[in-house]
Amino acid sequence: VIPYRDGAWQQGELKAYGPLNLDPSCSALHYGQAIFEGFKAFSQPDGSVKTFRPEANAERFNRSAARLAMPALPPALFMEAADALIKLDAAWVPKAVGESLYLRPLMFATDPFLGVRPGSEYLFVLFASPAGAYFPQGVKPVTVWISEDYVRAAPGGTGEAKCAGNYAASLAAQSQAQAKGCDQVVWLDAVHREYIEEMGGMNLFFVYKENGKTVLVTPELTGTLLPGITRRSLLELAADLGFEAEERKLTVQQWRDDVATGRMTEAFACGTAAVITPVGTVKANGFEMTINNGQNGPVTLALRDALLGIQHGTAADTHHWMHAI
Ligand code: PMP
Repeated sequence: VIPYRDGAWQQGELKAYGPLNLDPSCSALHYGQAIFEGFKAFSQPDGSVKTFRPEANAERFNRSAARLAMPALPPALFMEAADALIKLDAAWVPKAVGESLYLRPLMFATDPFLGVRPGSEYLFVLFASPAGAYFPQGVKPVTVWISEDYVRAAPGGTGEAKCAGNYAASLAAQSQAQAKGCDQVVWLDAVHREYIEEMGGMNLFFVYKENGKTVLVTPELTGTLLPGITRRSLLELAADLGFEAEERKLTVQQWRDDVATGRMTEAFACGTAAVITPVGTVKANGFEMTINNGQNGPVTLALRDALLGIQHGTAADTHHWMHAI
């Protein structure tokens, strides 16, 4: 826990996990001046522990902070806090493949003040929780619901930031998706309501076969979707596996046409929690389609294995993504 007051970050403290003491008028509770991050630590074959691209999370944290009119946290402090927390007890980083220690940094305004203005006092908190395998029964494609009733982020809004409000706004849509028998929401852009943006907590990728080449396509960062660190990593990893990668816009109609003509052979979602999840069935009002017969696709699985190999230390970290604790 690191407090910010009088215009500066104060001495941090390692505390036992437990409730925080907050003033009921604390502005984070009313106006949502609150941001967070999520990354993982992995046990390595030699018994050491490494985190995956924590510098990228520290950087995104500060971009979210700037959008929410909050002070930046020096990246070194972010890194030190994570390392110190992990070092507390090496035994709490799970050893099994697929398992990890999930780290959750957050920052929120603690000012007891009911006016709407940026706070002057903040709390940075970092806690950790062991995370089991996302697919304990093996990877299985998910069913997704294209949300037409709700939008996640509008141009000029906070869609690019990892802030609490974005997730509050997504809860009703997630419930609707579940009521339709789906696992996740697919968000469309707020202006045209036709361009595919991302999923609830994951970015999307589409796999094309073009003249014998495999091309990965992911929606470009337009300012309204979260720049995922897994997304960025896959764009870099694609070439290692002989795939091309492109960031561009894709409409729902194009998605349907490309699946129907067989040009698009797979689709998957990616993020820290699930790493890579195949998308099997896509539903919306009045339509439903299945990709790759609802099966795990080879490109999806190859990318998943490559990324998990780097994270678990069974493949060479050629991109220098792993940070030793
Ligand atoms: N989009 C949203 C809305 C998310 O919450 C997340 C999870 N942080 C992602 C995408 C994927 O980002 P990352 O790969 O950094 O976990």
